[in-house]
Amino acid sequence: MKNPPLKISNITIQPGERITVALPTPEIYTCAPIYIPIHILHGKKQGPTLLVCGAIHGDEINGVAIIQRFLKLRMLHSIRGTLIVIPTMNIYGMITMSRNLPDRRDLEGSFPGSKTGSFASRLANLLTEEIFQHITHCIDLHTGEPHIAKFPQIITSTENLESKQLAYHFKAPVILNTQDSKGLLWLLHKEPTSIPTIIYETGEALRLDFRGIHLGVRGIVRVMKNIGMLTSSIKGAKIPSSILIDSETWVRAPSSGLCEVFHKLGTFVKKGTRLAKIFDPFGTEQREEVFSPVDGIVIARNHLPIINEGEPIVQIAEIREPAAEKVQTWTSDIQEEKGDVFFE
Ligand SMILES: [Zn+2]
Repeated sequence: MKNPPLKISNITIQPGERITVALPTPEIYTCAPIYIPIHILHGKKQGPTLLVCGAIHGDEINGVAIIQRFLKLRMLHSIRGTLIVIPTMNIYGMITMSRNLPDRRDLEGSFPGSKTGSFASRLANLLTEEIFQHITHCIDLHTGEPHIAKFPQIITSTENLESKQLAYHFKAPVILNTQDSKGLLWLLHKEPTSIPTIIYETGEALRLDFRGIHLGVRGIVRVMKNIGMLTSSIKGAKIPSSILIDSETWVRAPSSGLCEVFHKLGTFVKKGTRLAKIFDPFGTEQREEVFSPVDGIVIARNHLPIINEGEPIVQIAEIREPAAEKVQTWTSDIQEEKGDVFFE
C-alpha cells in the first residue's frame, strides 16, 4: 500500500521524498534562532515509522556519530515505511558540551512536557507533538556520563514484549532490563499507544567509541530488517545473540585516593577477583584493594583516576561463566573485523 503524505513542522513530505527539516526550538535570551535538524526518509510503501534519535543528553556524541554513518547507507534509498532521524535532540547541550538544557534540566526527564511549563518542558512538548505522535518504533542512542565508559548495551523494559524483540534484533552483547518510570522510554511505553523502544548506550561522554559506533550502525539496520523496513543487511561476521542481564551492581570506592582499575570493558571477572587498587595520592602507601562481589562482566568503568569514597569504580553485570564466554567470543569477533563495511 502507498504511504500517505507526512506533515512535520508545517512541511508536507510526499512518499518517496527524503528531506531535512529544521525544527525551530524555544528561544534563548540572545535571541539567536536555534533549530533541531531532522532527517525524514519517507518510503513509497507504507510500513513502520522508526525514530532514531541521539544526544538527548548534549554531551553524548556516539549517537551523533552512529547517525552520521548510518545516513550514508545506500540501502536507505528504498525503505518501506518512514525513517525519522534526529542526530541531536538537545542541541543546546551540544553547543555547551553539557548534558542538560540552558535551564539545567534534563530533557530526558521532561517528557511529555507542556506548552506553558519550564524551558525543558516546552522543548519536550514540541518533540512530543511534532515527532512522537507519528512513530511506531524508537531507537534512542546514548553514551555514558563524563569519565564513565559503557560496554555496548541495550536498555529497555523487557515486560514490553515488542521492545524485548527489538533488543534481541539489535544484537548488542548485553541487554539490561530497566524499571525506570520516567524518560523517553517510559513515555513511549505508556499505554494505550505503547511504542516499542530501545536505548542503545556505548562509550563515554565527549569521546568517540568506534567499536560501539560500528555496532550501533549495524544494530539499527538489523532492527529495520526485522520490522520489515529493509530487505538487505550489512555483510560481516556472524555474532552471537545478546545476553539478557537480570542483575547488575556498581562497585564503589571504599576509600578516597588514586585509583587504578585492572579490567577492560567486557572482561569476565569471578567473585573475589581483584578489580582495583587505591593509593594515597600524596605518598607511597596502598590504601585499599577492591574485589568483585559477584561473577560477571564489566559493563561500565570509571576512567577518572582520582576518586572519592563512594564514587563508582566498575559496574558488573552478573552472568555465569558459559554466558561470559559468549560475550568474549563476540568481543573478539568484532575486533577482528577489518575495513569499513558501511560505505558499500
Ligand atoms: Zn544519556
